[in-house]
Amino acid sequence: MSECIFCKIVQKEVPASIVYEDELLVAFKDIFPQAPVHLLIVPKAHCESLSRMTTEAEMATSRVPFLAAKLAADHGLVGGGWRLIANTGADAGQTVFHLHFHLLGGKPLGGKLCQ
Ligand code: AMP
Ligand code: ZN
Repeated sequence: MSECIFCKIVQKEVPASIVYEDELLVAFKDIFPQAPVHLLIVPKAHCESLSRMTTEAEMATSRVPFLAAKLAADHGLVGGGWRLIANTGADAGQTVFHLHFHLLGGKPLGGKLCQ
């Protein structure tokens, strides 16, 4: 998708602090971090959200929990804990419509998933 910011990061047309990359997934630091560790795990294939899953994005997405656990360990989050979330659609506050998963940790994140 030519106007998608995450596609542009995947294509290296826009810079990002990439911490992991393989053939299906890329992970980079969120530009407005909400925790000491705030990474975005992104399937390379464009897919709008979990509500618009494509076959191409499905295999990448299935690997996200495993990669999240690896990145959490790499960033020292296993002891304190961490959170993996995907905002999906307007009510969830999704702002970038290229499927992504937030990996958050490094401080107590609070017990509430919604207000
Ligand atoms: P969401 O609200 O779930 O769609 O999350 C989108 C996230 O992408 C937000 O946390 C933004 O801070 C982050 N974001 C937007 N543009 C960039 C960018 N160019 N590089 C890194 N993170 C970004
Ligand atoms: Zn995209």
